[in-house]
Amino acid sequence: MLKPQKLEKVLIANRGEIALRILRACKEMGIKTVAVYSTADKELMHLGLADETVCIGPAPANLSYLHIPAIIAAAEVTGATAIHPGYGFLAENADFAEQVEKSGFAFIGPKADTIRLMGDKVSAKHAMIAAGVPTVPGSDGPLPEDEETALRIGREVGYPVIIKAAGGGGGRGMRVVHREEDLIEAAKQTREEAGAWFSNPMVYLEKYLTNPRHVEVQVISDGQGNAIHLGDRDCSLQRRHQKVLEEAPAPGIDETARAEVLARCVKACVDINYRGAGTFEFLYENGRFYFIEMNTRVQVEHPVSEMVTGIDILKEMLSIAAGNKLSFTQADVKIHGHSLECRINAEDPATFMPSPGMVKHFHAPGGNGVRVDSHLYSGYKVPSNYDSLIGKLITWGSTRDEAMARMRNALDEIVVDGIKTNIPLHRDLVNDEGFCKGGVNIHYLEHKLANK
Ligand code: ADP
Repeated sequence: MLKPQKLEKVLIANRGEIALRILRACKEMGIKTVAVYSTADKELMHLGLADETVCIGPAPANLSYLHIPAIIAAAEVTGATAIHPGYGFLAENADFAEQVEKSGFAFIGPKADTIRLMGDKVSAKHAMIAAGVPTVPGSDGPLPEDEETALRIGREVGYPVIIKAAGGGGGRGMRVVHREEDLIEAAKQTREEAGAWFSNPMVYLEKYLTNPRHVEVQVISDGQGNAIHLGDRDCSLQRRHQKVLEEAPAPGIDETARAEVLARCVKACVDINYRGAGTFEFLYENGRFYFIEMNTRVQVEHPVSEMVTGIDILKEMLSIAAGNKLSFTQADVKIHGHSLECRINAEDPATFMPSPGMVKHFHAPGGNGVRVDSHLYSGYKVPSNYDSLIGKLITWGSTRDEAMARMRNALDEIVVDGIKTNIPLHRDLVNDEGFCKGGVNIHYLEHKLANK
C-alpha cells in the first residue's frame, strides 16, 4: 500500500497546451513546477509561469522531449519529486515510466507493467476478454504465419477483415482486406511494416466494422482497488484516424449497452489494478461496443468529460500519484449537460498542410460555458518541429443544442491572425446537418471532405 505523500515538485515532460494544463493543475494544488523545453520552444507560455525551467536539448524531439536521460537529469538537478508525461512523446513508453520510478521519482500515470500490457494490442485484448469487456471478433491472439490456419481464421471471422500490428499506434500498421485471396499478401506486408516501424512484426486479425462510431470511456483508478468511470465521449469526426472534434456524452447511445460497457471498464481497471487516468476506446456499431485499445494516459479530449462531470482529471491524477485514494465514488459522478471540443490546428483548412509561424494577433473567445485550453498569445511563433495542435476550444451547455450554439459563437469570436488554422473547417462542422443531428460514423468527415 502506498503511503500518501505530498507531491512537492512536478516536472512537466511535455510542451504546448497540455504542459500549460498540467501546470495550472499543479499551481491550484500548491505543487511547485519544473518546465522543460527544447531550443525551439523558448517562447512557450508556461515557461514564464513555472517555478523553474530547464532546456533539455535541441529542436528534434528525439534529442529533447523523447530523450529520457535529459529529462531524468532535469528532474535530478531541480529536485523534482514526480514527472507528468502528458500525452504523446514518452507518455506511453513503459521503459520511461520504469526509469522514472527506478530513479526515485513518482511517475504520474500507470505502472510500467500496465503500460506494457496495454501497449501490445494483442495482450491488451486478452486482458479485456478476461475482464469481460466486449472486443472485436478476430484471431484469438497473433495471426499465425501458417497460411492454412490464417485463411481458416479469416473465413471464420468473415470478410472484410482488418490486419493490425500488435505494436501499432497513431493509425499506422493496419490493412483492410476484402477478399480471401488478398489475405496472405496483406498479412505479409503489415508484418514487414510493423517490424520496421514498431520493432514488433506481430500482427492480428479482426472483423472490419464498416460503419462504426468511435466511442470511448474515461476512467480513473487509484491502483488501490478503487476505480470509477466519467462516462463516455464520441470522437467519430476524424481525418486520417486523427480526431478533429469531440463531445461528451456520446449522443444517441443505447442506454443498456452503455451501462454495461461502463461497468465492464470499471471492473477491468480493478482487475488489472490500473493506476491513474485512462481511456478505453471502442467502436460502436448497431447498438454494440467493441473494444479496440486502451490509452494509458490523459487524452487531448479529456476536457469534455471534465465539463460534464465537474471533476478535474489532472488534479485527480496528481492526487493518485501522491498515493491518495480516489477522492470520490461512482455515486458522486453525475453527467450534467453536454460538452464539445474543437481541436484548433495550425494547418491549412483545405489542404491540411502544417502552417507554423508567427501569430500576429490572438483573441480568445469567452462567455458562459466557454473554455479555451491553449498556449497561444499574440506574438507567439508556432515552431515547425512538433504537432500542429495549438489549442482546444471547449463549450458546455445544459443541452447538446446549447453547447453547439455556444461553440458557433465562440468560433465566430476567435481570432488567430498570421498563420492558417482549421477554424473555418470547425465553423463548417458545427453547422453541418448530419453532425448537428448527432451520431455520425468515423467515415463521415472524410466523405464530407471528399465531396467538397
Ligand atoms: P491506433 O493505436 O493506431 O490509433 P486503433 O486500434 O485505435 O489504432 O485503430 C485506429 C482506427 O482504425 C480506429 O479508430 C478505426 O477508425 C480503425 N479501426 C481499427 N480497428 C478497426 C476495426 N476492427 N474495424 C473498423 N475500423 C477499425
